[in-house]
Amino acid sequence: MRYKYCPECGAKLKGQQAGDDGLVPYCDNCKRYWFDSFSSCVIVMVVNELHEIALLKQSYISDQYETFVAGYITPGENAEEAATREVKEELGLTVENLIYEGTHWFDKREQLMHAYIGIVKKADFSTSSEVDGVSWVPLEDAPTRMFPDRPGNTQHILYRKYLELLRTK
Ligand SMILES: [Zn+2]
Repeated sequence: MRYKYCPECGAKLKGQQAGDDGLVPYCDNCKRYWFDSFSSCVIVMVVNELHEIALLKQSYISDQYETFVAGYITPGENAEEAATREVKEELGLTVENLIYEGTHWFDKREQLMHAYIGIVKKADFSTSSEVDGVSWVPLEDAPTRMFPDRPGNTQHILYRKYLELLRTK
């Protein structure tokens, strides 16, 4: 998101040269630049020891496709803490091994997704109110229930990474 007005004083911002970054919105009153803002989020593909994937039904995201655990990183925590916390909150499960799979830009929502595979022990779910349902889905059945595989789809990036991990084990 590009700022048009100063979030501090409300003045209209003007473009001002900021070194290598080119023209950046600038507040003359507050004497500061307002660089474009976006959210930092985590997405976790939760897998158990039987190679089943936790797929979530969340009607506020989609009625058709099933999601992975995801959420916003809150100020003061790092991405790993956010990933572990979200799995606990949404599914009631403890991550035993968190595998980092890089960051991915989600253009539609202007979010930087920090992607992880979270290995857990198979157990019953204890879901939060954000989750309408969740099930353990066999590895081979998951892709047809996930969002379509388009460039930048983090679900499928994680899915392919997991297959790669299994091959190289
Ligand atoms: Zn200002």
